[in-house]
Amino acid sequence: MDSTMQHTPLLISSLLRFGTTVFAEQKVITWTGEGARELTYAEVGQRAAQLAHALRKLGIDGDQRVGTFMWNNAEHLITYLAVPSMGAVLHALNIRLFPPQIVYVATHADDRIVIVDNTLAKPFSGLLAHLPGVQHVIVNGSIDDETRAALEAPEHVVAVHDWDALLEGEPTAYDWPEDLDENSASSMCYTSGTTGNPKGVAYSHRSNYLHAVTAALALGAKQGDRLLVVVPLFHANAWGFPYLAMAVGASLIMPDRFLQAAPLAAMIEREKVTFGAGVPTIWNDLLSYLETNPADLSTCRGLVVGGAAAPPAMMKAFQEEHGITIIHAWGMTEMSPIGTVAIPPTTVEPGSDEYWRYAAAQGRLVVGVEGRLVGPDDSIAPWDGESVGELEVRGPWITRSYYANGRESDVDRMEMESKFHDGWLRTGDVGTLSEDAFLVLTDRAKDVIKSGGEWISSVDLENAIMAHPDVREASVVGVPDDRWGERPLASVVLRAGSPTTVEDVREWLAGRLPKWMLPERWAVIDEVPKTSVGKFDKKVLRKRYAEGELEVQTLA
Ligand code: ADP
Repeated sequence: MDSTMQHTPLLISSLLRFGTTVFAEQKVITWTGEGARELTYAEVGQRAAQLAHALRKLGIDGDQRVGTFMWNNAEHLITYLAVPSMGAVLHALNIRLFPPQIVYVATHADDRIVIVDNTLAKPFSGLLAHLPGVQHVIVNGSIDDETRAALEAPEHVVAVHDWDALLEGEPTAYDWPEDLDENSASSMCYTSGTTGNPKGVAYSHRSNYLHAVTAALALGAKQGDRLLVVVPLFHANAWGFPYLAMAVGASLIMPDRFLQAAPLAAMIEREKVTFGAGVPTIWNDLLSYLETNPADLSTCRGLVVGGAAAPPAMMKAFQEEHGITIIHAWGMTEMSPIGTVAIPPTTVEPGSDEYWRYAAAQGRLVVGVEGRLVGPDDSIAPWDGESVGELEVRGPWITRSYYANGRESDVDRMEMESKFHDGWLRTGDVGTLSEDAFLVLTDRAKDVIKSGGEWISSVDLENAIMAHPDVREASVVGVPDDRWGERPLASVVLRAGSPTTVEDVREWLAGRLPKWMLPERWAVIDEVPKTSVGKFDKKVLRKRYAEGELEVQTLA
């Protein structure tokens, strides 16, 4: 049978057109510090058209890269929609990377035009001299003369434009190209490299479209939802939120640069947020803040947390004290990013121990994502909830290679190729899969602590320590040990003003964990160092330990 369905391509422009006309009344709400500014999706569609016209005039006529250096706000959303829809490629730059890494990724991706928030224009001007490929800078919001001069200074910069002035007068409709290949690139993100440089992942229209629809399904997003997007638009494809909002007709609440617990609590209360997305540290900070600053969060039914393991103690506290369900999810930049979502089976009694085991897992594989566990001897481990292996995945929104421009070093090329195995992506994550497809991660391959003949899971230890009521945060890394090869070092942040000591925490832990897992080495720190996207930065802790910067107590 060769006559089946129509071959309409799955394009970002279809999501844009659909969301901004069918759900014209929905809104993108950007927090301003004092309150919020709003645009309807009808207006978002008009501005996306204006931006596309303006970018064409600046020479974007193919798949050139348009970078963004922005917080989460309405203009970033408009760019997310307009750039891929016109056939160009959106590259959201991670504003928190170290400057040399930002320069590396913007150069590697070959960004031609960069759109910058006014509040980030100064730091961006410092990078611009090192980005000879950037010809135009578009600034969202007003800047002072000094910053403008700094942006205009490099010779390769043809012009610096003001967002409003650039869009003004452009037509509010655009004939989005319909002949684009759905497998062509629509956007890209870089993931932090472990040994070499950051690696680029290019998403296609098709992968983004399918991922958006599946993410909406898997997370239970629905029409009229008010989604608080704390996860940055530059982190792992913003977990699909800009596109899934278009697909389901949900409004977006964008925090801009106001990412602390106090403004987030105010946004949830005032903007009647129903659902949100962010890394564990964001929600953990919010939970601590709410202890002394009550807020009415009754509209919020759930928060999705991913990017790093969600501490079960935090999940329970949100449920029991605030009636908010934390939905734990796992994914990677390479996977667009969603791979698993932890919604316990309906056969399980809510609140039971079994329920919490399911909820605290990384989650169940979502439709479209296949997984297999590869054991140390390259054999495939069974889905029995016990056999441990490295997870490998494949599916329509999982990358089949990293983006290469031919100028990579040999080390980078080798690292890029080593992540693929017979058409599967090696995740570098180690754990188990249950018969019903729930993934439990015990570690990243590089974080496993090898103590004597045993593997100690740093994640299990962190969760156990963070369940102590006076511990705010804890991070565990393996450190060299003469007798055992490696032993865990626990760095803990104690609740301000609490009389608890690490001796108390260790004693408390002794009743809960086998003796060989108990760390001997403890350090009290003010804060766990975080990566550019807010994950615990174990590299920094290992380095501090190695350089003798941590005050370590040895308890036996
Ligand atoms: P980066 O490598 O820059 O942190 P990603 O956000 O793509 O970029 O990181 C993906 C990795 O984050 C995963 O491979 C996994 O190790 C970790 N991760 C993501 N979600 C979870 C989770 N729910 N629990 C534990 N680890 C997670």
